[in-house]
Order: sequence, then structure tokens, then C-alpha cells
Amino acid sequence: MAVGPTTHVLIAGAGPVGLSAALACRRKGFDVTIIDRAGGTTDQSRAVGISWQTLDLLQEVGAAEQILQEAEPLRGLAIHRDGEPFTTLRVPGQKRRHPRIVCLPQSRTEEILQEELRQAGITVDWDTELIDLKIENGSVIAQVARTQSGATSEIQADRMLGADGASSATRHALGIAFEGETLPGSWSIADVTCDWPFAPLNACADLHSNGRLLFTVTIGNGRYRAIANHPDALEWIDRLAPVREVHYQTAFDMNLRLAASFGDGPVALAGDAAHVHTPVGGQGMNFGIADAFAFADALENENLDAYRQHRRKIDGRLVRITTAAYRFMSASSRFGRLRRDLILKSAGTLTGALVSFQPPTASQNAR
Ligand SMILES: Cc1cc2nc3c(=O)[nH]c(=O)nc-3n(C[C@H](O)[C@H](O)[C@H](O)COP(=O)(O)OP(=O)(O)OC[C@H]3O[C@@H](n4cnc5c(N)ncnc54)[C@H](O)[C@@H]3O)c2cc1C
Repeated sequence: MAVGPTTHVLIAGAGPVGLSAALACRRKGFDVTIIDRAGGTTDQSRAVGISWQTLDLLQEVGAAEQILQEAEPLRGLAIHRDGEPFTTLRVPGQKRRHPRIVCLPQSRTEEILQEELRQAGITVDWDTELIDLKIENGSVIAQVARTQSGATSEIQADRMLGADGASSATRHALGIAFEGETLPGSWSIADVTCDWPFAPLNACADLHSNGRLLFTVTIGNGRYRAIANHPDALEWIDRLAPVREVHYQTAFDMNLRLAASFGDGPVALAGDAAHVHTPVGGQGMNFGIADAFAFADALENENLDAYRQHRRKIDGRLVRITTAAYRFMSASSRFGRLRRDLILKSAGTLTGALVSFQPPTASQNAR
């Protein structure tokens, strides 16, 4: 079947990746149905950092301005070693059109994307769960169930995107393995209001010799999100920045996985359905949103195979790099810590110099 404006695209999952894919597909004129088993967008802070590359993509679909209005640019990171100040990393380029990274809770990003989608004439079918799917004559027949009543029905679509998160029903239905590992031990998260001592820097990391670490970043409105590779995120952030109020906390397992293939026939996978990894570098949602836009381009070019191969290569590299970065940051051997400290100290000096360097203005040059 030739792809055209009447092509019906089904998107399973209305997280940031599914919502972005719906916007990108709609903009290209496709007929989009988007379903999600939840009752609405998430209320968790989850992925906080939005990169300038993502803002460039979201600008194409009209969603970047609102994010830029509400988000706080990441200005820099205070790094502690075993609870003591060690160095600072500054983020240069604060005056660029799009700062390198802005911070906004994922819950708000999803609301903005959903509102943009509504304005484009598409509403998410919430409370609608993908149960199974089959491929017939190059098209998709998805079996879905209403989560409240359990009533089932079928949706026929020409193409489909599985953006249904790490436990993707789309991936399961296609029998695609999610290859990789689960890190031992439990991770934890806490969203807090605290007495923040590091301003104007708005993030901090505390790296301990035993490999335990804490990373905390602004989520705006005076709130901070602490994430740790151990169960004590709240206790640790309280030691660095006395906590006044706890808004949310939870524990979770950390998976490092890549789908053996990014789909089959008329179906593709994107975002957490295809790749999950540590939050070091904060790129999970960013790369997922890049998948979403690449999927829409591939639909237009009628080349889902190229999408699958290309994105799997890029996202596979991301999983490898973030795993290596995590091992680097959580080093516990003497040599590993020495190497990390040396690199962080040099990076601290370099970013400090870059930020304090002010290019001369035209009038200064004329003098
Ligand atoms: C506690 C936590 C903290 C995190 N912290 C960070 C961080 O600091 N930095 C970072 O970069 N990333 C972080 N992440 C990861 C980040 O949230 C994900 O990378 C991002 O949400 C991926 O978006 P997605 O749309 O692919 O998947 P999701 O956000 O998981 O969205 C998937 C959607 O699919 C829906 N769904 C699932 N199954 C079905 C089904 N069968 N039928 C229909 N709908 C379905 C779900 O309801 C959900 O709305 C965190 C994740 C968690 C859970």
C-alpha cells in the first residue's frame, strides 16, 4: 500500500515519545489514532532534562516555545566527593537561542505536548490498552481493551508505532527480545523542596568512594529531584540541602536494554519500548523524541526498514555510552576514582573558563 495523507497511523502509548510522534505524523498530514492505557499524562517528574536538539525538533510542531517559557536552563553542577565540595561544572552557551539543556518535569512536558496535539485536532484515547496485534497483508490489526469496562475492540491501521514504554505490549506481540541486563540493587528518587546552597548552579552530584552516587537537579518552582543508585536518595539530599518538604519518592530497578529489532513490517518501536538505560546524561526521553520524529520522516519516505536500522544503531550507541558513563561516575576502584577525579577537575576548570570568557563587544573592538 502506498503511503499518503489517508494513511492511518496507530500509536500505542501517549508518553512523551508517543505524543511527539503523533504531532510529527499529524504535521505530515497522516491520519493518527493514539491510545494509552493510563487515564491521563504522568504526574511524575521522571525525565527532567530537555536538550537543545529536542527543542529544535519540538519547534517544528509548535511545542518548544511553551517549554522554553516554563523551563529553567541548566546552569551547572556542584560536584561533591564523599559529601565534601570537589569541583563545579558550568554549562556554557546560556545566551543561545535554545540553551543546551532546560529542566522541566516530564509531567509538564507531556501536558504541553498533549495540548499542542489537541490544537492539531487529535485527542488521546486514554484508558485504552493494547492487548495484542497481528499483521495481515502489510497492515496492522490491533486488539485493544477499555481499562474500565474491559470491553475489547479492533483498530485497523496501515502503520503502527509502539511507544508503549519499557514493558511494551507491541514488542511482546512481535516476539522481539529486550536484550541486556538489570543492575543489581534498587535505585531511588525523591522530589523535594529544600534549602538549596549551590545557587546559581542548579544541580549537584555527590560521588562516594564505595560507588554510591546521588544526582539532584532543579525541576522549577523551588523544587529539586534527587536520584540515587541506592535506596537513600532522600537521606542523602537532606545532608547536602536540608529538605523542607517531600513531594514524591519511590524506588525502582535500573535496566540497560536494547530491543533486538526496532519492529517488523508495518510496525516500529520507539522510546523506552526500544531502549532503556541509566539516566546519566539525561538522554532517555531526548533520544526517544528523536526516534518519534525519525519515524514520521520514515513514514513519509516509505522506509521503515531504514528507520529501524538507523535508530537501533544510534540508540544502541546511547545505551553503551550511558552505561560506560555510569561506570565512570560510580567508580569504586582506586584507579577508577583517580581517573574520574582528574577528568572532572579538568572539565571544571575548562567549563569555568568558557563561562567567564566574554567575547569583546563591537565597541570594545573599535577602541
Ligand atoms: C522513576 C523514573 C525516573 C526517570 N528519570 C529519568 C531521568 O532522570 N532522565 C531521563 O532521561 N529519563 C528518566 N526516566 C526515563 C524516562 O521517563 C523515559 O525515558 C521516557 O518516559 C520515555 O518515554 P516513552 O514515551 O518512550 O515511554 P513512557 O513515558 O513510559 O510512556 C509509555 C506510555 O505507554 C503507555 N502504555 C504502556 N503499555 C501500554 C499498552 N499496553 N497499551 C497502551 N498504552 C500503554 C503508558 O501508560 C505510558 O503512558 C525515568 C523513568 C522513571 C520511571
